[in-house]
Amino acid sequence: MPLESNQLKKLQGAGYKVIGPSKHSAVKLCHYTKESIKTGEKKNCYKQRFYGIRSHRCLQMTPSLTVCNLRCSYCWRDFRYFRDKEKDLVDDPKVLVEEAIKAQLSLLSGLGGVEHSAKHLKEAKEPAHVAISLDGEPTSYTHLGKMIEDFHSRNFTTFLVTNGTKPDILSKLNPLPTQLYTSLSAFSEEMFLLTQHPTEGKQLWQNILKTLDLLPSLNCRKVIRLTMVKGLNMEKPEEYAKLILKAKPHFIEVKGWSAVGQSRQRMPTTRMPTHEEIKKFSQELVGFLPGYSYADEQPDSRVALIKVAGKIPGLYEKFS
Ligand code: SF4
Repeated sequence: MPLESNQLKKLQGAGYKVIGPSKHSAVKLCHYTKESIKTGEKKNCYKQRFYGIRSHRCLQMTPSLTVCNLRCSYCWRDFRYFRDKEKDLVDDPKVLVEEAIKAQLSLLSGLGGVEHSAKHLKEAKEPAHVAISLDGEPTSYTHLGKMIEDFHSRNFTTFLVTNGTKPDILSKLNPLPTQLYTSLSAFSEEMFLLTQHPTEGKQLWQNILKTLDLLPSLNCRKVIRLTMVKGLNMEKPEEYAKLILKAKPHFIEVKGWSAVGQSRQRMPTTRMPTHEEIKKFSQELVGFLPGYSYADEQPDSRVALIKVAGKIPGLYEKFS
């Protein structure tokens, strides 16, 4: 069933531009895309520093608006609008890509009226990178591979973020994105249930374990992202390390939970780790990861980067 009109209104009010005939997709200007344009690339997303993407040319979208099988404690989204209607996610991928680019241009036009770098706004109007991550679980979208293919045919690089609960879809995904992010926010089934509240029960933890086993066979750059909440899942680095070593990612991002959106209703802000705490946890984690080293950090985003030794495939020079 498509989203109801009051739900759509609420999302539009929050800055989402809903696209596609079935309205299961959306684009939203990322905070850092705006900051980068306003400051002429003086303030950027940590992914610019870590991976070389240009924040002002990044398009953030989802083909799975409000469809997710988890209810993570740290998620900023409003679960009242979440649903499990995957079979509705059927829009033509070419139409979605076309409409996503148009939506991005229309959202950018609002920035002309505030102080900004004209050069960066002009460049932003030719987006070069897509982050498929904005909302919901993108592997729920029937034509995800075709959509990635269409973005690649337009010379976009693609970052796909998955919660890892659909290994069967990931194993068949063709083409793979430029960079595949898999979230790992628990080191055990018990912690998974406590932190991520699956709608389909414990089986989803088994699916995440299958995804970790699958990752070494996927031929693209891979990142495992740990979202850490103090007093909840930010413990036992040695147990996280065992799982990470199965997956053999190129990078590991350790990121502190930010008390934004609806997650503030679920947990007190005192559970936000400081950057120093993220750094300490990451350094402990590295101690259990032979072949990996602490590579970088962006304190204002409370995020640390761990990197595998050796050559890493990809388009960017920084770590190759
Ligand atoms: S998997 Fe992502 S979209 Fe789904 S609840 Fe967790 S953080 Fe939110």
